[in-house]
Amino acid sequence: MNRKNIFSLVMTISILALAACAPATAATSPSNDAVNTVVPTTLSNTDSNATSPTSTSSTDSNVTATTEVNITAESMDPNLACSGGKTSSSVTPELTEGPYYKTGSPEQADLYQDGMTGTKLIVTGYVYDTNCQPVANAWLDFWQADANGNYDNSGYTLRGHQFTDENGHFQLTTVVPGLYPGRTEHIHFKVQAPNGEIITSQLFFPGVSQNDSDGIYNANLLLSIQEASDGLQGQYNFVVPVS
Ligand code: FE
Repeated sequence: MNRKNIFSLVMTISILALAACAPATAATSPSNDAVNTVVPTTLSNTDSNATSPTSTSSTDSNVTATTEVNITAESMDPNLACSGGKTSSSVTPELTEGPYYKTGSPEQADLYQDGMTGTKLIVTGYVYDTNCQPVANAWLDFWQADANGNYDNSGYTLRGHQFTDENGHFQLTTVVPGLYPGRTEHIHFKVQAPNGEIITSQLFFPGVSQNDSDGIYNANLLLSIQEASDGLQGQYNFVVPVS
């Protein structure tokens, strides 16, 4: 009897001990869940960090997915310089620089900022030489008024420079500029082949009634415009002197 009682007691203690362990194990699970819960928070922090210029890989890929305009030289508007099988072209016409150019613009191809007023515009194209050979690493500097016709003369909003890639390709993301007194819609630019001459001029938009009354307007500098899902898509090919 005593041995049976001792055995029963040992068994009871063992069962109680196991039972006690079970909740302890279960109690660890929520703690693991709690650790897991932290993971999304950490990820979302990573996402927000991804908006910083130093770690934009995921943001860039998102932006690329929605705004990348895949236009090859072959799919350009054939009316543009060096498109449609042309093998030579005149240098892009020069126009006045205007009073609002600022040196030292940041290197940025995307001038569009979230919440910016106006119609989003993506301009793509190439820089060629007069033999219609693409110019890699050409410098392009863009500046323009915002959708209300105002320039940022204290900062660098809607101002930025970039360089063409190895195929002579560029892409500018911005907004359609607004009108200001005496001027039709236009985007100022400078373009220069490596060690070449700087061409200063302006791009224009087709179908703007003020084009005809603007003394600076030049139809050879018209963008080829198409509607895009989130704004407008423009094309233009610059031609610089052979250096
Ligand atoms: Fe202007």
